[in-house]
Amino acid sequence: MSIFGGVAEDQSVRVLLRAENSPPGARTNNVDWLRQPPPGRRPNARKGQAAPTIGDASEASACASSRRILVTGGAGFLGSHLCERLILEGHEVICLDDFSTGHSRNIENLRDSRRFSLVKSDVTRPFSGDVDEIYNLACPASPLRYQADPVQTLKTSVLGSLNLLELARERGAKIFQASTSEVYGDPHVHPQSETYWGHVNATGPRACYDEGKRCAETLFFDFARVHGVAIKVVRIFNTYGPRMDPTDGRVVSNFIVQALRGEDITVYGDGLQTRSFCYVDDLIDGFVRMMNTPPSVVGLVNLGNPGEFTIRELACLVVELVNSRSKIVLRPLPTDDPRQRRPDIARARDILGWEPRVELRAGLERTIAYFDELLCGERTGELRESSSRIRCSI
Ligand code: UDP
Repeated sequence: MSIFGGVAEDQSVRVLLRAENSPPGARTNNVDWLRQPPPGRRPNARKGQAAPTIGDASEASACASSRRILVTGGAGFLGSHLCERLILEGHEVICLDDFSTGHSRNIENLRDSRRFSLVKSDVTRPFSGDVDEIYNLACPASPLRYQADPVQTLKTSVLGSLNLLELARERGAKIFQASTSEVYGDPHVHPQSETYWGHVNATGPRACYDEGKRCAETLFFDFARVHGVAIKVVRIFNTYGPRMDPTDGRVVSNFIVQALRGEDITVYGDGLQTRSFCYVDDLIDGFVRMMNTPPSVVGLVNLGNPGEFTIRELACLVVELVNSRSKIVLRPLPTDDPRQRRPDIARARDILGWEPRVELRAGLERTIAYFDELLCGERTGELRESSSRIRCSI
């Protein structure tokens, strides 16, 4: 069932106002989905708006400290976990997603929450609304997806950030930016700390993502300096877990899906390039801690798991944990593929009291269980060994 064909198709998902229905005209009217403040909340005094009369009194927030939080990219892998966490904490969550890479199944478990709202829209379109906090996670994040429409990827990072920063400025809201370890490019410094300026190819196929995120960081810091906007910027290293898209080409999802299907495990290049893999729950905890820091903390803060693995090691571990018959095969290395990546998380430890808790093996087991369920029906018993563990060699 598509839940986005319109409200009539699924009343339990409250699509407040779709962009397509918005009146043409002034920039802030394109998607003005939150004209009503939450119950018990005063309309934005600075803007001098009259108290709207629409709204549902039964939508009362769970607790006095409840905040109204916009999560862009909320139906994606990370966004959906964040929405879930914020709902569990008693906040009101508005999930904005254009479903270019997000998926309705990721937010299925939130549909019945009275504190969850969904807006199908694209962050490159201007909008306004009454919010206390904004998490900007909107952007395709896998190389396959962000290179499919590079111009749109750049627009998403740059115009999306601009629109959201304007919204934060208008509303006096705190705004969080999900930046990325990709701003370090193919790094000459290892591990990467926030003081490293990076080594990015500005014209290569990854640039639409890397440079888009770098430009977004610039916009965030300029809005903080020039307009006093309360910003929180983190740089996310490779993250994995349930709700990754099985078709987006990321290494963890690719390997698990291939292992479950008994297909060849495709290691790119010599497989000696490294990545550090953070389990999604750890990362989301870092997000929330960062948002809750005092105003003096703006970032940058690296969030990732400092455990570093070669891609070969990852392949072997997945084959072992799935107990798969899959063979490991080598395929050409994509252009500008970073050779190594590991976060220095001293700052996150210091400022947020944060560090990852989930070991790769444990996190992979949970992720495999998710994909196993997702692919259920495709598999046959032949794809997996039931007896002895497979030894991996490459
Ligand atoms: N990779 C691989 N096989 C795959 C998918 C990816 O060997 O099927 C490699 C890829 O070349 C890169 C690493 O795994 O070196 C991580 O790739 P991913 O796309 O997950 O993230 P990113 O390159 O953005 O870190």
